[in-house]
This record gives sequence, C-alpha cells and structure tokens, in this order.
Amino acid sequence: MKSAFDAIVIGTGQSGPFLAVRLATAGRKVAIIERGRFGGTCINTGCIPTKTLVASAYAAHMARRAGDFGVDVSGPVRVDMRRVKARKDEISGKSRTGVESWLKGTANCTVYQGHARFESPNEVRVGAELLSAPQIFINVGARATTPSMPGVADSPYLTNSTLLDLDILPRHLVIIGGSYVGLEFGQIFRRFGSEVTIIEKASRLISHEDEDVSTEVRAILEREGIRVRVNATCIELMKHGEEVGARMDCSEGAPEVRGSHLLLALGRTPNTGDLGLEKAGVARDEHGYIVVDHQLRTNVPGIWALGDCNGHGGFTHTSYNDFEIVAANLLDHDTRRVTDRIPAYNLYIDPPLGRCGMTEREARASGRHVLLATRPMTRVGRAVEKDESQGFMKILVDADSKQFLGATILGTGGDEVIHCVLDMMYAGAPCTVMQRAMHIHPTVSELIPTMLGELRPL
Ligand SMILES: Cc1cc2nc3c(=O)[nH]c(=O)nc-3n(C[C@H](O)[C@H](O)[C@H](O)COP(=O)(O)OP(=O)(O)OC[C@H]3O[C@@H](n4cnc5c(N)ncnc54)[C@H](O)[C@@H]3O)c2cc1C
Repeated sequence: MKSAFDAIVIGTGQSGPFLAVRLATAGRKVAIIERGRFGGTCINTGCIPTKTLVASAYAAHMARRAGDFGVDVSGPVRVDMRRVKARKDEISGKSRTGVESWLKGTANCTVYQGHARFESPNEVRVGAELLSAPQIFINVGARATTPSMPGVADSPYLTNSTLLDLDILPRHLVIIGGSYVGLEFGQIFRRFGSEVTIIEKASRLISHEDEDVSTEVRAILEREGIRVRVNATCIELMKHGEEVGARMDCSEGAPEVRGSHLLLALGRTPNTGDLGLEKAGVARDEHGYIVVDHQLRTNVPGIWALGDCNGHGGFTHTSYNDFEIVAANLLDHDTRRVTDRIPAYNLYIDPPLGRCGMTEREARASGRHVLLATRPMTRVGRAVEKDESQGFMKILVDADSKQFLGATILGTGGDEVIHCVLDMMYAGAPCTVMQRAMHIHPTVSELIPTMLGELRPL
C-alpha cells in the first residue's frame, strides 16, 4: 500500500517524537515509524532506567552509612533486586507509554510500527507499506558496540540493555570499558552488593577527561571496593565453566579476571547499517554516522539526521537540541545551528561529575591565556554538612576576555551546579558578573563566585 505524507520521521528517540508533533501541530501530514520500544534508548535502556538504579543504589549506600549521621538502622542492608527492577520498569514504562499515546493521540500524525528502510530519496518502506514524503527525518539512535575481541563469540556477555533485565544480583560483575556506561553500572551494582571489577584498556578511566578528574573518579570508586584494572591492552573474553571474564596477557596486573557476569560497555554504534541509506544516496562517515551540516541536513536535499546517528552528540539533551535546531530552521525562520551549542554532560556516579565547555587540557592546547581556580569539596560547607565531601571543582576563564571557558564540578550536586557556569557561557557574560552575584547559603553553588576571586594563571 502507498501513502503520501508531508514528512516522515524514522525512530522515536529523543528528537523524532518532538519534531513529529511540532510538524503535525503546524498542520503537516506526518508519519512516524518505530521498530522497537517507543521512546528509544533514553527511556528504555539508557538514562531513565539507569538513573532509577542510581537512586536505588544511593538509598542502599546511605542506609549503610546511616550511623555516620547518628541514625540507627538495625540489621544489615539488603537490596531486593526484584523490587529495584519493578521500580525501574514502572518509571521507564510510564515514559514509554506516555510517548506512544502522545504520538497516537496527535492529529495529523500517523504511527507505524516496524522497521523502516529507504527505497529512494523520498520513499520509505515499513513492511507492506510504502510511504513517501518530500521531507524525511532520521532519528534511529545507536546500540551497544559489539567488539571484535578474541573470545567474544564464545563468552556470554551483557550489554546496557540486557543487564537492565536482570532481577538477580550478580555475584561478581566484570565490566569491560571504563567510560560512562561502565562506571555508572559499576557503582550501581557495587552498592547493590556485587563484587565489581572494571577493566579499561587506556591508562586511566574516562580518559578524555583531565587526569586529575580520572584519578579522583577512580579513587571514589575504589573507596567503595570496586577493583579497577587499566592498561589492559590485550583483552580476550573467556568462559570457564559457570564463570565468565577476561584474560589479559598484558605487561602488568593479574593475567585473568573471572566473575559471574560480564558487561561490555565499549561505546555505541549508530543504527544506520540497515536503513537502506544507499538507496537514498545518504552519506555516512567511516564510523557509520550520517554526515550532516550545521543545520543537520544530510547530503541529500530533503533528508535530515538527528540524535546519536549523526555523531554530533551522544546524549539525550543533544538529540533534543537537534530537534530544536531543525524545528527552528524549518518552522520559525530562526537559523539555529549545531555549532551554537556548548558541550555539556554529566557522569552519574555518586558524587556526580558535571562538565561544560573545555577541559583544562583543551584550554591549555587552545593557546589562550587561561585562568584557573580549583577547590576541593572538603572546603565546601554544604558538602561537609552532608558528609559528602569527595571530589573537587575547577573553573577555567579566558584571562583577556574574562569569559568562562569551562568547568568541572565533581562533587555532591555537581550535576545541577554545572548549570551556573553553563548558562553564563550561553549568556556570553564575563565571570565578573557572576563574581558579584549573591548566591544562596548554604549551597555548593555559593562557592563559585568565591572561586572566581581565586583565579590564577594556568
Ligand atoms: C546506559 C546508558 C545510559 C545513558 N544515560 C544518559 C544520561 O544520563 N543522559 C543523557 O543525556 N544521555 C544518556 N544516554 C544516551 C542517550 O540515551 C541517547 O543519547 C539518547 O537516547 C538519544 O538517542 P536518539 O534520539 O539518537 O535515539 P534513540 O533514543 O536511540 O532512539 C532511536 C529509536 O529509533 C528506532 N529505530 C532504529 N532504527 C530504526 C528503523 N530502521 N526503523 C524504525 N525505527 C528505528 C529505535 O528502535 C529507537 O527507538 C545513555 C545511554 C546509555 C546506553
């Protein structure tokens, strides 16, 4: 069957549904296609379920620490994984059904369930249906990368998606990959009561962050009993009876780590290989990301790519921002661009790492005159009062213009506090504006103006 639309949206990730509804509300006849669960990665296997687990893990951690605060919780702390999972499923499920019913209830918006594949630059097939439109928006996201490591075919492993289906506690979770996904899951399961070993091939965890950040993050995790193995350059996955793990015939460390469960957290691969892009003539780069310009247009007129599949983000907020950019250009005569945005993200270990703008390493490499201020969280009253004083804050400012260059807040509340600096960067305001602002006591944020009085040349 053939159907003609004004616009087709492929995928219901973090930009597709918003764009579909925006276009439909503007009077366009829109089709949106989803092959899996509505809401994509964030809602089903990413941000939302993992942050419910972070919350459960925090509750367990604080219950164990209750005595430090003068609170008596008698008996050992036990985590009921079935209830943890049920809570996660309920919150994630509500979001999923919310997206589905929102799309299905929107006038001018037709929802198709099935795998979408291009037939030509303006035609997409979903099962027996052939849909056509002059404008097509691709929001197909990404999936966990399966590495070509030796042993991968014979070693049962988990990904971010399958680990979330567990309702038992792994005795020993071995995690390959010391970046965001690996570290968040590592701390979550350690706090639930698993033994956890994180294996990373680089010389440090989250190696694109500054070295002092990697060092402190590692220390935070190790204080909780997580074992970290770096420089594991020659990993071979293995299965030994009931056990799984990794063999590392490297120059340092034990040659083998065995556990009960193995999580591969080795990055993401865009879902662009089975879209029929060749039939539309849409170009991809060597990693499979769809090539786009600053307004997220592909090389084929009338086709856009948004979210993780265009390689310009990797986060829910970047995907949502892609929606805003495309909608502004198409509907509001507002030439917003992807280059307008400032890099910003969080790592949701506890305490969280909030990041925006440049790292110290990037600031040094930029050739500018840079001012730096740092403060350990042990010198932040609010953190001390909460007895959560691990981590530190770091602010970078351009010495000539006094503009903020970037910030790192690794400490309690860092995931929220980072927005103090991020919004100043968007405002283009010099740091002297914030230095005179009266912040509220007692907060972590109140120390940011104080730090600006302590800036020193790098
Ligand atoms: C464990 C984990 C934790 C994360 N935590 C955070 C976090 O805390 N904060 C944050 O900002 N980001 C986080 N992310 C990243 C975030 O989930 C993604 O960046 C976000 O979901 C944006 O994805 P998207 O919009 O590109 O598409 P996705 O959300 O991946 O959705 C794409 C959709 O397209 C569908 N699809 C694919 N191909 C087709 C096809 N051919 N036909 C029809 N439908 C198709 C898929 O089924 C899917 O539903 C996390 C990711 C992981 C894995």
